[in-house]
Amino acid sequence: MRFTVLTLFPELIEQGFSTSITGRAAEKGLLSLRCVNIRDYALDRYGHVDDYPYGGGAGMVMQAPPIYRAYEAAVGDGKKPRLIYVTPQGRVFDQKLATELAKEEELYILCGHYEGVDERILEEIATDRISIGDYVLTGGELPALVIMDAVSRMVPGVLSNEESGEDESFMNGLLEYPQYTRPEVFLDRPVPEILKSGHHANIARWRRNESLKRTKKVRPELLEQADLDKADRKFLSELEREEESENQ
Ligand code: SAM
Repeated sequence: MRFTVLTLFPELIEQGFSTSITGRAAEKGLLSLRCVNIRDYALDRYGHVDDYPYGGGAGMVMQAPPIYRAYEAAVGDGKKPRLIYVTPQGRVFDQKLATELAKEEELYILCGHYEGVDERILEEIATDRISIGDYVLTGGELPALVIMDAVSRMVPGVLSNEESGEDESFMNGLLEYPQYTRPEVFLDRPVPEILKSGHHANIARWRRNESLKRTKKVRPELLEQADLDKADRKFLSELEREEESENQ
């Protein structure tokens, strides 16, 4: 996967990306990152890339020409790459979208700043508008890193077998079960007996039930879309009955 990020703060992206798993995968050649500093394509020698909004109002807006020049220099050959503009006004990012984006060979990401970006450049170059949640950040660099991280984990070979993403929250529509490691007892809290039993089928059932319990408690709406079998449904109705009797 090749990432190209159009940004005013390339050092933020480079530092975040070069750390830990994504950095290791980049060293192995499974991922690559190219940052294009939009300020290098400013129209004047002072490096201005923003201006006042037409119609008035607070803040500044990133101008279209510097972004377009940066984009053209990066794309080079006239192709139209998949380009994500990160914005609180976009489709909300989730695991499904991360898995879909990981199938691309190349992704461009445009990071906004200030009040945002001149709409005309977005009409021209953005193929996707993606939000990382219903809150407003000062710039698009953290959202870009969030998207690149989640997408990179889905690129074959980036996670080792031990780190495999198969079993994780959202991969099967549920939140993951609780995890434990040594020591066996911590502050008088022992690891659940079943996890030490070596009985794989019982462990798998226990984990599945814990997943269902946790999802029902924290994100019940996920259960509506999750792929549930007969045993899952039976467990959930038992849970419901228990909750009802506790509330009486
Ligand atoms: N005026 C814009 C609005 O109300 O939609 C918000 C601009 S925000 C202060 C500056 C930049 O940060 C945006 O252009 C976008 O690139 C990025 N940004 C902020 N919050 C974001 C979010 N939740 N998801 C993705 N990008 C975000």
